[in-house]
Amino acid sequence: RTAHFPAIKTIEDFNLDHLPSLRRDVLAHLATGTFVAKAENVILLGPPGIGKTHLAIGLGVKAAHAGYSVLFDTASNWIARLSAAHQSGRLEAELKKIRRYKLIIIDEVGYIPFDQDAANLFFQLVASRYELGSIMVTSNLPFGRWGETFSDDVVAAAMIDRLVHHAEVLTLTGDSYRTRQRRELLAKE
Ligand code: ADP
Ligand code: MG
Repeated sequence: RTAHFPAIKTIEDFNLDHLPSLRRDVLAHLATGTFVAKAENVILLGPPGIGKTHLAIGLGVKAAHAGYSVLFDTASNWIARLSAAHQSGRLEAELKKIRRYKLIIIDEVGYIPFDQDAANLFFQLVASRYELGSIMVTSNLPFGRWGETFSDDVVAAAMIDRLVHHAEVLTLTGDSYRTRQRRELLAKE
């Protein structure tokens, strides 16, 4: 049941005053984990440092506490896992194994571009969970630019279509929390 979270982050530690663009009622609803029961997705979009990974871990922890199996990894690591399975001819088995997790979290879509093979694998991951299991994705890129990161506009569009059909899309705007903390520290000196 390990979720492989890269750090300990909680929703309780998340300072909502720093992020007015995030609706509190929406966050509170997601924290109940009922979206997982309904196999709905959550997409967190926004610039670096805005708190996407923190929120993804925090919501993942909530879902795990609610009794759902959760698996967290970066987009690159998900692709590495699928590529290895594909190369040894067991992609279907791997996708089936991943489907045992009620919620998978894919962090950092957009930082590292994928080639067409990787994009196809990613599409298959999304398609294999469609209406069956939840996906939470974080990305620094708006949907309109996913074609760049997946080096294929058609595959990107088909993937987004499936992802957002039953989903909460949170578009976060504001300053980087890292930059803000640094500025506040400097102001105190
Ligand atoms: P992103 O994934 O969007 O690039 P992170 O979630 O990694 O950003 O946030 C950067 C750092 O700032 C992390 O240490 C995170 O815990 C912290 N952070 C971001 N937003 C908040 C917030 N609103 N309240 C508390 N900590 C925050
Ligand atoms: Mg992040």
